[in-house]
Amino acid sequence: KNVGRSGSLNGEQTVANDPKNIRVKLVLLGDSGVGKSCIVLRFVRGQFDPTSKVTVGASFLSQTIALQDSTTVKFEIWDTAGQERYAALAPLYYRGAAVAVVVYDITSPDSFLKAQYWVKELQKHGSPDIVMALVGNKADLHENRKVSAQDAMEYAEKNGMFFIETSAKTADNINQLFEGTGIYLYRNKTQLSW
Ligand code: GDP
Repeated sequence: KNVGRSGSLNGEQTVANDPKNIRVKLVLLGDSGVGKSCIVLRFVRGQFDPTSKVTVGASFLSQTIALQDSTTVKFEIWDTAGQERYAALAPLYYRGAAVAVVVYDITSPDSFLKAQYWVKELQKHGSPDIVMALVGNKADLHENRKVSAQDAMEYAEKNGMFFIETSAKTADNINQLFEGTGIYLYRNKTQLSW
């Protein structure tokens, strides 16, 4: 098996270890009620069911996506399951995470401030090469928008984050969120273990 080497094999560019199957821990952070569980359920099960809560203590859900060139990224998704109330537990939760998805609700400026708090926390205590995505959810409620996409995008750029607005309700940009994150990871895969 042609694994474990950097460089060129059979004229093809390869990287350390098997680059074809990446497995990563992904955590979601953000205020309670912004739609984290709904985003996960929409992505993993393809449905919007506001009543089906991920229960505290449940193990993670996982979902694999395929990128071009047959690389797969398996996301092991850890929802906070209400742990946002226990800030002291947070470092345990995001330890070892390669990806942090920080979610706010575009109708809630408070939730955007809270997202910025989580970004600072991750910058202080997260893995130094963590990939962070900033997600403005509930984009279907644009008539009640209180956080401008421009402001959020500028904040994301300043902090080296991938930015996207989603709706778990309509499924808008949910796959794009995870694909975009997967592509970002793949480009930076030298720091990952798999
Ligand atoms: P969590 O506490 O962050 O996990 O939030 P939930 O996933 O439990 O969602 C909280 C509430 O927001 C639920 O009542 C959902 O129905 C609603 N919700 C989640 N995503 C969306 C969305 O994209 N659009 C709208 N309109 N409501 C949403």
